[in-house]
Amino acid sequence: MKEIKRILIANRGEIALRALRTIQEMGKEAVVVHSTADSDALYLRYADASICIGEARSSDSYLNIPAIITAAEIAGVDAIFPGYGFLSENQNFVEICAKHNIKFIGPSPENMALMSDKSKAKQIMMRAGIPVVPGSDGEVPDAEHAKKLASEIGYPVIIKAAAGGGGRGMRVVESEADIEKLFWSAQSEAMSAFGDGTMYMEKYIVNPRHIEVQVLGDEHGNVVHIGERDCSMQRRHQKLIEESPAIALDDATRKELLETGVRAAKAIGYCGAGTFEFLYDSRDKKFYFIEMNTRLQVEHTVSEMRSGLDLVEWMIRIAQGEKLMSQDEIGFNGHAIECRITAEDPKSFTPNPGKITKYTAPGGIGVRMDSHVYSGYSVPPFYDSMIGKLIVHAKDREHAIKKMEVALSQLIVGGIKTTRDFHLNMMKNPDFINNHFDTNYLAKH
Ligand code: ADP
Repeated sequence: MKEIKRILIANRGEIALRALRTIQEMGKEAVVVHSTADSDALYLRYADASICIGEARSSDSYLNIPAIITAAEIAGVDAIFPGYGFLSENQNFVEICAKHNIKFIGPSPENMALMSDKSKAKQIMMRAGIPVVPGSDGEVPDAEHAKKLASEIGYPVIIKAAAGGGGRGMRVVESEADIEKLFWSAQSEAMSAFGDGTMYMEKYIVNPRHIEVQVLGDEHGNVVHIGERDCSMQRRHQKLIEESPAIALDDATRKELLETGVRAAKAIGYCGAGTFEFLYDSRDKKFYFIEMNTRLQVEHTVSEMRSGLDLVEWMIRIAQGEKLMSQDEIGFNGHAIECRITAEDPKSFTPNPGKITKYTAPGGIGVRMDSHVYSGYSVPPFYDSMIGKLIVHAKDREHAIKKMEVALSQLIVGGIKTTRDFHLNMMKNPDFINNHFDTNYLAKH
């Protein structure tokens, strides 16, 4: 075991602060890097050192590998924590860290390479005996091939970008009349968002639930799951509310899903924290792998609340070469829900950056606010619009929803529009309360 003593956090916002807390709680030092647009972030003051790595644009700062590596060397860190987004799934960055003798707190570049192309990841999983959504065997080169394949699979189909993320580069096609147009628009969106126009196709599952399995793997070949999460409340294929456990599953299906997640991780020799995402068809109780995220996810918090484990701590311990606990030692309690609070209009979801004139966060038993903002803070327009995550934990779903409603009503953010009221309405929505929703709920309502 090689103890990590000083860690650079190559990220910003709530996840930078969340990681900093764990690092310092472990008795280690946290170095934070930031862009010029984030120089007034409060967490910079909590850090053991902070270094400006460039201008506001992500490409100049949080994606600027030479600047981050230089900062790591100047600060004398022995490891880098990537968070989510930015460089967290950049294989090249992981390799450069290794060349500079800096431990990347995450999976190996080999693990990443296997899962980064979503269409190839599906092929690997299929060979490992994991159920996948029926679709193309790898890439669909052009609209002509897409048309031919779709008539075999049967409409509706979904055209997806192999490099996709955040719901971009994806189009649902209802009939042959639209396939050419939608193939090209998905591909051009993928090109501009990811610089990669590789496309693949899947059968479109009608009204599925999105259910995912959190796993941890260590360097000694051990893998455990930290339960499952239901992330079906989405807007434009992007998650808004996440919860654990997934109550759409019966106990037998849940057990099977969790075991499948562990088996999938073992099949690729996975090391670190990762998530296997599935679509669940409640009509026939079948689940299908769609992709794996080789990083910590935004919604990891609900798994932490239910298991009592700190996933960032475990990522660091794994990076130090420590052995995981056994599955039997991990217990799950109650129900946890997370609401993503963004600086957006709660009706139209248009971004609304600007100065926060007033800020009060809720508290109490089982209430957790992961946020970097404060009264007087300006939300910069350059990055993701998420200003925080509100997470609650209670003995069951009913109590968790009520706790979330009270917590949301006590969350006060003045000066900018936020999605708080959207969430508040959702906690009172009979369909949400009665678990009558799927990934298309908001598109339909
Ligand atoms: P991204 O990597 O952009 O997040 P995913 O492949 O994880 O994309 O899919 C995001 C969401 O899109 C899913 O949670 C689901 O709502 C929808 N989706 C993706 N594939 C399908 C499919 N084959 N059938 C139905 N919905 C899908």
